[in-house]
Formats: sequence, structure tokens, C-alpha cells
Amino acid sequence: MVQISRLLMAFVLVFFAPLQSPLSYVIRYSLAMPRPASHLFEVTVNISIPPGDASAFVDLQMPRWQPGRYSVADFAKNVQEFSARSPGEPLRWDKVDDQTWRVQRQGNRTITATYKVFGDDLSGTYAQLDVGHGNYTGGEIFMYVAGHKQDAVELHVEPPSNWRVINGRTERPDQHDWKYPNYELMIDNPTEVGPDWSVDEFKLAGKTYHVVVHSRGDEGGRRPAFVRDVEKIVRAETKLWGTPEFDSYTFLFHFAADNRSGDGMEHLNSTQIIQSGILADRGSYYAALSTAAHEFFHAWNVKRLRPVELGPWDWTKPAATRALWIAEGFTQYYGIEMYHRAGFADSGEFLSDLAETIATIENSPASKLMSAEASSMAAPFIDRASYRDRTNLQNTSLSYYLKGELIALNLDLLIRGRTNGRQSLDDVMRRAYDEFYVKSPNSSYYLKGRGYTIEDFQRIVSQVAGTDMAGWFEKYVRDVETLPYDESLALVGLRLAKTVASEPYTAGIVVDLEDRQALRLGALGTGSPAENAGMQQGDILVSIGGTSVSRENWHRVLNRYKQGDRLAVTVRRFRQTLDLTLQLGPPDVYDYRIGEIPNASAEARKLRMGWLDGN
Ligand SMILES: [Zn+2]
Ligand SMILES: [Zn+2]
Repeated sequence: MVQISRLLMAFVLVFFAPLQSPLSYVIRYSLAMPRPASHLFEVTVNISIPPGDASAFVDLQMPRWQPGRYSVADFAKNVQEFSARSPGEPLRWDKVDDQTWRVQRQGNRTITATYKVFGDDLSGTYAQLDVGHGNYTGGEIFMYVAGHKQDAVELHVEPPSNWRVINGRTERPDQHDWKYPNYELMIDNPTEVGPDWSVDEFKLAGKTYHVVVHSRGDEGGRRPAFVRDVEKIVRAETKLWGTPEFDSYTFLFHFAADNRSGDGMEHLNSTQIIQSGILADRGSYYAALSTAAHEFFHAWNVKRLRPVELGPWDWTKPAATRALWIAEGFTQYYGIEMYHRAGFADSGEFLSDLAETIATIENSPASKLMSAEASSMAAPFIDRASYRDRTNLQNTSLSYYLKGELIALNLDLLIRGRTNGRQSLDDVMRRAYDEFYVKSPNSSYYLKGRGYTIEDFQRIVSQVAGTDMAGWFEKYVRDVETLPYDESLALVGLRLAKTVASEPYTAGIVVDLEDRQALRLGALGTGSPAENAGMQQGDILVSIGGTSVSRENWHRVLNRYKQGDRLAVTVRRFRQTLDLTLQLGPPDVYDYRIGEIPNASAEARKLRMGWLDGN
């Protein structure tokens, strides 16, 4: 009986679920920036509540983070001067936690909330308003109405005079108003407001692409060539995926004319790329293109083909997904591959790029401590999170970008080998996109299709490879076993050469990158010679073997010695100077190179050509 009544209850709940969802609100946002020098965006949220909604209050919340940047940003910290009113009277409101403003309706059906947001950070995560431009993504500016993220929203942007507004959903010149099916889509749309950005356009297979450039420095006349090169990337990637479903896509580039800015962020119909340096510089030019190759791939992988946890979101807590090694790592792999296939790197450069990633992962002590899945779950701690406390993350955390890139490399080669070149990882991506995005019924209000689980993804890989890959995933994705580079590379007639680096010793010394002056030690390698010598985090390293050392030369000086040598080191700790003895252990830095196997079989060479040429 209990069982039956429970079943009955479940049926009733499922059947009547749509009736229980809250009545939709009409939510209109307006964004102004009348005083750019103040760095204050001015936001108005107008909420109309339908008759029949009996709630006593409305909660307005700032998200803790926003899509694509997984560290917690706590955007509420930049909000100031909040107030709320109805047409006739001011409304009472209270902060009920660090991200929530609770406004009492006092019987009103129309509520207008206003607040300002400080933003002076051109980062793709936070917003910036200054005398040169306004730039924002969305989640750092707009509060959502708790319980009503699913409702359609409207946005009006009021720029300062002579400034123009553009984003990936701009359909006509001088557009100031947008409508979005839900809040999640509104905040996934980076927007540039300013007097001096440019926009170029090209069409490919019936789709329109915009290239918006805001340069804070000299372009050296290179913009037309740059736009043509962006088009080469679009050609290479749409060749892999097929015709995209969007009608238009916008690349927003910022050349920040400094030496520290840098970000690329994927969005549904656009990407925003913030590049240090200027377009006239060759290095900045190609770095921006290479980021574009990564970000445009995300238009499919992560924005549409997505892990089940990535949308719709609960903005009160950070994301928890085990699949960022696919979402980011595979995109990292394909970004490099597409940059190569578009003609910007030859095969040698492509292979040495991969070998460099192998070196980074295999030289890291964390590669034996953190799996690809665990790295993904740690994203809120490692995706540009900043700390005031000391952590051991430099030794314990691994990049899901790089580990994922290497998992993709190995899977791509294994699938090509096992299917004799008939299938590849490209087929996995296309098949997954088709099954979970194109053909799945919508699982939520957020977006078409449904998100995949790791088990879903593993099934697709197994189907394409023609063999059960469960054991492979267990070892290399969930556990920390070294990837089977030799086996995978041999299938295409290549091999990995591991050699002791020319300066192979670190002795476990890690420099604290936060201290920009002194040679201060960070978290030392566990069980390392430095730790055994009695050095510790926070010490300032003064000399090695009697030679004074700096942030620039300590590694070179240390590498004058060899395994087994005992050398005097001097450190300063608090107000003391300590003389210690360090005994050098075995080399801990290796170089990796991918080279050809002499006399590789014709089959292997043919598979290699197919891989490198994208066939
Ligand atoms: Zn700008
Ligand atoms: Zn990415």
C-alpha cells in the first residue's frame, strides 16, 4: 500500500508539475553609464508581478560566479546604493545573505529596484567602465529574480552620447534593446560600449560572422588580414562540425596595449578575447588567433554539447562537474589542432606544442595526485581563483585543460588506430553533439537538448572506437595512471622521446609568484631536497653554493651541481639568516619530444597523414 500510494503521489507530482511552477513575471532591465570615469554602471530592474502571485517579497540575487569562469567571484561585493520602490512609495528591503536583497512588496504588483555596480577590470569575468569604453558580460552586472530565472527578460542599454553598443545578439546598427528567453541567456552575451571599436563582417555557408576589434594601441594596418585569418579558423572548424545552427556569431577582440591582460571566454553566439599587446605586434596577433581557435570550438563543445551540470545553474554555489577535461580539455586539443589545420602552425609546430603539454603534465608532481575528473571538480579553486592564504595547490592541482588535451590526443589516435582510420575523435564529437544537443528533447528552460554525463560520453567513445572503453576511462580519467603515449603514438608511426632536461634540477624549490621582488619560496615539493634541507615556504632564498641568487638566476646556479652534490644554501627567515645544506637528488625535469619511428609501416604513415590533415 505504501508503495502504491507513493507511486500514485509521484504520478500526481509529475503530471501536475507544470501547474505548480510559479507564474511568470515581466522583468525589464535597463543599464546606463552616465559617468564613465566613476566606473559605476547604473542598473534598473523593473518587475511586474501577475495577479494571483501571493508572495510577500521578491528576492534579487547577484550570482556568485558566471558561466565559463569557475572560480567564485562574488559579484555582490561590487554592488552599491541599492534601493527599491513601487510607483507610489519606497519599499522596505533587507540584505538576507551576502548575495540577496529582499524587497517587501507591500501589496504592490510593480517593483523597481535600482543599484550601481563598480567595474574597472577588463577581464572577461568582471566588468569595466572607464572613459574609453564599457565592457561587461552580464552576471557581474545583473541581479536575477530568485525563482524566476526561467522567465523571459528584456534589456535596454543606454550608452553615453557618441558611444555605440555591440554584442553577439546585435541585429541592426544602433540597437539598444534586446529580448532574451531567460536570464541565463542574457548574461551569456558580452557587450562592448564605446566610441571607437570597429566591426568587420564575412559570410560563410549562409552564416554571418562579425569581428569586433577594440584596440587600445596601434593596429599597424593589420586588421583586414586579421579578419581574413579569423575566417580561416571558422572554415577549419565548420569543416569538422558541419554547418552551425546559429545565424550569426561575433568575435569580440580587445587589444589591451599592456603586458598583463589575457582572457578568452566562450559564449553562446560570441566569444570575447582580451589580448595583451597590440594588433600591430606579430606575437599578439597570433596569440589572439590561437585563442580564437579555442573559443570558437566552444560554440559547439561546452556551449551546446555540454556536461549535464552546466546549465541551468544554481548561482548560489559553485559548479560541480566531473567533465571539464572534456569541455575544456578537448577544446584545448582541438584549438591547437584547428590552428594547425587552418594553416598557422606546421606539423612540426603542432607536434612540439603537444610535446610541451606532455612535459608540463608529466613533470608536475600533481599528475600522480589528481585525476582528470578530480581536477574538474577542483575548478572553483583553480580557475583563476586568488588566495590570501598559503595553499599547496601548486603541487597538488593539475590543469583539466592540459590533462584533457592529452586524453583527447590519446583517444583520437587510439580510435584512428582501432578503426583503421575510418573513425576519429572528430566522430565522437559530432555524434555526441547530434545525440545530446540536436536530437534530445529539451531537459530544461535553459537551452535546447540535454547535458551529457561522463557515462554518456564514455558510451559514445566506445561506440565510435568499436570497443568497450570503460577500463580505459577508469585508468586514465578517474585514476592517475600515466597516459599510454607510446601505444597511441605508435599507431601513427610516432614515438615520445623523454630526455633529462638541460637544467634538470629544481630540488623541489618553488618560487612564490605573488612576491614580485624577493626570491621567496612557495609551497616546496613534498619530500624534496629543499624540504629535507630544512627550507620552508616563506623563506627568502639568498644564496646557493655561496653565489647570491635572484628570481632570474637561481635555477641556473642550482644546475651547476649534479645529483648527490651537497651544497650550502642560505635563507632568510623572519629576522634570522640560516645556513643550510642541500643534497641534490635525481633529476626532476624532463624534456619530451614527439618524433617519427624510423621505418614505420605504410598503414601507420597513412593514419598519421589523415590525422595531421584532418581527414
Ligand atoms: Zn572596449
Ligand atoms: Zn576554453
